[in-house]
Amino acid sequence: ATPTSIMVGTGRAAELGVLFRNGEALQSLGDARVIALDKTGTLTVGKPALTDLDVAPGFDSADVLALVAAVETQSEHPVATAIVTAAREQGLTLAQVSDFSTEVGMGVKARVGGRDVTVGAARYMTQLGVDVATLEADAARLGAEAKTPLYAAIDGRLAAIIAVADPVRPTTPRAIQAMHALGLKVAMITGDNRRTAEAIAAQLGIDDVVAEVLPDGKVAALNRLRASYGAVAFVGDGINDAPALAEAEVGVAIGTGSDVAIESADVALMSGDLTGVTNAIALSRATMRNIR
Ligand code: ADP
Ligand code: MG
Repeated sequence: ATPTSIMVGTGRAAELGVLFRNGEALQSLGDARVIALDKTGTLTVGKPALTDLDVAPGFDSADVLALVAAVETQSEHPVATAIVTAAREQGLTLAQVSDFSTEVGMGVKARVGGRDVTVGAARYMTQLGVDVATLEADAARLGAEAKTPLYAAIDGRLAAIIAVADPVRPTTPRAIQAMHALGLKVAMITGDNRRTAEAIAAQLGIDDVVAEVLPDGKVAALNRLRASYGAVAFVGDGINDAPALAEAEVGVAIGTGSDVAIESADVALMSGDLTGVTNAIALSRATMRNIR
């Protein structure tokens, strides 16, 4: 490997908004066989909005939304922002909460006005012993529509299903086509539920989906993809992505991502446009052709 070609390559990349941490990163990116993409904030905009709220018999939708949104004022998760925004837009008053807690990758709970309010994924309800059977068909339908269904329970009883939808970035479909044109496999890794993940993957022509992954399960997911396809480039934006960015042969942090993500990455993109990933791969391959 000639230092000059690598310097020229990294300089050219910087002009395209792609920052390689070092020459090794430039060399290894072109050898990736599979691109593993985080879903929320990477494939999608990362700003979900509330789309549906279906209550269980005996519950009022405005009451449930006000209670759930009160709890979500304490969370920084994007789905929390979606729920709080919807409640405020409806002019609902959000009560004070106490005893708030987060179960990472699962959901949140708190006391609101003397009641226990929990909201989160199906697996969180299962863990808490809440029976979700009456709204399961609803959840399946919402997931097939590429929406994320969240269950809400009040005092241990299922109260509602709330769906949020996070739009795919307009640049994503073209970027995935370009990855396929480079002969790469494209995979999605997400904590979101399987049906939602598969609906989005189907829209985008993604080859492999790893869904319902807890934050510390992303590394195991990468090992599985490596065993199936070979060297992995992982692309992510979030704080939870740091271990995966470090574990992949090449970790790519996308612009608008967190400082933690950028520090753990081998490659940083200045923008959120995934076409930057394919530009970087093409450039890496071209650089290595000149060298080898
Ligand atoms: P991802 O970043 O892929 O969305 P997370 O691990 O952050 O994965 O979240 C996984 C799932 O946990 C979410 O899809 C949601 O069902 C649930 N969850 C996490 N935080 C919250 C929250 N504040 N309110 C409701 N549900 C939540
Ligand atoms: Mg993310």
